[in-house]
Amino acid sequence: MLELKNINKSYKTGDFVQQALKDVSIKFRKNEFVAILGASGSGKTTLLNIIGGLDKYDSGDLIIDSESTKKFKREQWDSYRNNCIGFIFQSYNLIPHISILDNTMMGMTLSGVSYKKRVSRAREVLKKVGLLEHAHKRPNELSGGQMQRVAIARALVNDPDIILADEPTGALDTKTSVQIMDLIKEISKDKLVIMVTHNPDLARTYATRIIEFQDGVKLSDSNPISELDNAQDKLEIRKTSMSFVTALKLSFNNIKTKKGRTLLTAFASSIGIIGIALILALSNGFKIEVDEFERNSLSQAPIIISSQAMNMSEDLISNIQGDGNLEEYTSKKEVYVTDDIVDTMLHTNVISSEYLDYLEGLDKTLLAGVSYVSATGINVINDGVNGKTLVDTSMWQLLPTNPNEGEDGIIANNYDVLAGKINEDEPGIILLVDRMNRIYKSTLNSLGLSGEKVSFDDILNAKFKVILNDSYYVKYGSAFIPSQDLDSLYDNSSIVLPVQAIVRSKEDKEVISGGSGIIYTNELTELIVSNNKDSEIVKAQRESDYNVLTNKAFDNDSMSTNTKEIMLSYLGDQSVPQVIYLYPKDFDSKESVTSFLDKYNKGKSEKDVVEYTDMAEMISSLSGNIMDAITVVLIAFSSISLVVSSIMIAIITYISVLERTKEIGILRALGARKKDIKRVFNAETFLIGLTSGFLGIGIAYLLTIPVNIIIENLSGLANVSKLNIVHALILVLINVVLTILGGYIPAGIASKKDPVVALRTE
Ligand code: ADP
Ligand code: MG
Repeated sequence: MLELKNINKSYKTGDFVQQALKDVSIKFRKNEFVAILGASGSGKTTLLNIIGGLDKYDSGDLIIDSESTKKFKREQWDSYRNNCIGFIFQSYNLIPHISILDNTMMGMTLSGVSYKKRVSRAREVLKKVGLLEHAHKRPNELSGGQMQRVAIARALVNDPDIILADEPTGALDTKTSVQIMDLIKEISKDKLVIMVTHNPDLARTYATRIIEFQDGVKLSDSNPISELDNAQDKLEIRKTSMSFVTALKLSFNNIKTKKGRTLLTAFASSIGIIGIALILALSNGFKIEVDEFERNSLSQAPIIISSQAMNMSEDLISNIQGDGNLEEYTSKKEVYVTDDIVDTMLHTNVISSEYLDYLEGLDKTLLAGVSYVSATGINVINDGVNGKTLVDTSMWQLLPTNPNEGEDGIIANNYDVLAGKINEDEPGIILLVDRMNRIYKSTLNSLGLSGEKVSFDDILNAKFKVILNDSYYVKYGSAFIPSQDLDSLYDNSSIVLPVQAIVRSKEDKEVISGGSGIIYTNELTELIVSNNKDSEIVKAQRESDYNVLTNKAFDNDSMSTNTKEIMLSYLGDQSVPQVIYLYPKDFDSKESVTSFLDKYNKGKSEKDVVEYTDMAEMISSLSGNIMDAITVVLIAFSSISLVVSSIMIAIITYISVLERTKEIGILRALGARKKDIKRVFNAETFLIGLTSGFLGIGIAYLLTIPVNIIIENLSGLANVSKLNIVHALILVLINVVLTILGGYIPAGIASKKDPVVALRTE
């Protein structure tokens, strides 16, 4: 069944070669008690290790089941050790951090036997060695003799055919030695027991065969096998494999024995996680806060459709930033031509009647307000403290109309009416004051008032009249210029423009409707546009030459810039609006409105596309981008500590590998594969990674409480820092992956350890 054929083994230490076994040939019977007798250093342990497949012979052959082992693969040796061999060592070699029961079961655990079977079999062998009641103790709670019994139980658990015992009583007193020897003798009844000893008495008392060694050479054999004596007994080799759960259990128990260190390690490596989690919690919370703020304050910011839309195209950016094909500060004697900035920056929207018809199809319930700004001049004269004065209307704003009257209209939603009453159906103006009831001096002057402080009544009593173009412009050669006689213009006009109300922007709506100034009702526009339609001056303009008219008019230095603008816009086509403001009812309506507008552009050529400006979107995407950028930078900084902690884990795992060298040897002797050893250490880093991940998240979660208190004190915002559960779990996962990566190389080192060397370490 087992045969050594001309085995040679030598160890090299530097230049020195120690021949541990010299041409050793022995045949063993299936069932005998062999004592290997020899002085210390004679090669007994080496012989045992080679028989047990723990060490490799240099030359010769080990025959198992009449099969040469010269071509045995690693896995075959592992399996052979696991289920054909039971090792008993002089120093017991129990794994200190797991129970007696777990120690006993380990060989079966490695060969993948079910838990129930394992336990019942382990209890069976523990009972046999008389230690059943100690099953749940740790090895260090037992005496030397008891520990050796456990080692014997462990050797027997897989019911191997061969038991190899290396000076099993070497560390025991005489009385205990006798008990252990009796136990081994008992075992040898149906197994091959090969026991190494340097005690001839012991050998003679118990063994059925004594083989003597000296300096690696077999000296004598008391009961050799003749060539004829040829028992053919099968050794069955089953495969071994350790499950990850076993690896976890081993590592978990090992970690438990050094709680303090593990906790410190986990804490140190969780600092990166804490940092990132806090940053994510903060940016997440701020995003929610900003979103909410924007939803509230920007929900009714208008979507602006202007005849000239800003176009932030790539063309524009390349125009500003420069062209990759051109050299900066070149010495070439050439000048390069690019598209006009106006062409690249402005998109001319053709607000055609077709487009206006399309807009009619927009669901009006989505809108809180709408205003159409037409290119028409508003001529207003005021009768105030300084007499009749022409009012600068260029800064006046149009009051949006309310397509669906009621509570949530644009006006009710955005303004508090402080005095008077808004009447949208009449031409009129409204004074908007800021949050401290302030207005500009120029606004006050245009109301015909002066002073530091004015009463609401004085404002509501201010007098204005509208002057239609036909009265305002007088013929000057072939062009038209404004009349300068304000008194008679005022007196002759019948259109009184009352100050209807004084309003103030609501507290949370300042972003869109804030500021101060004069607002006019849509009815005023209607009035002017309808009157100007049939005006004399328009007819005259249509009939005359456009260029001559404008050039002449603009050559006149007496005309103010404002008048020129009014003239210009007046000369434009008044039948379509220049700017359309759509005020969505809320955030969701805004989405519907913009998608409605986008639908119009689908399939249209570039020049027919009508572009719009979504103010709310512009503001929120800007703030969103800034926040994302800050978050990324902060996370990048914290990630450094994650990398540092991975390196730390690598070092700690390496230390653990050094500490657990003996355990590696034991596991290998019991048949663990290299893979299994790697698994044990990966399981350890997995556990540390998991612990530090959850610890980090837990600490970060606790830290959000004081962080929130500080932020609330500084900014008045409550509960800003919010840790997202998905972020938290992803961080734990990243931490686990990083720690496993950190421990990967040390785990590889562990798995490559020579089992013989590993077992020799103390
Ligand atoms: P025994 O068990 O009979 O005391 P060993 O088999 O342990 O003897 O050792 C036989 C010889 O081989 C000794 O001289 C020992 O120093 C040497 N030896 C054993 N293992 C190694 C090793 N791993 N490296 C170097 N020398 C070794
Ligand atoms: Mg020895």
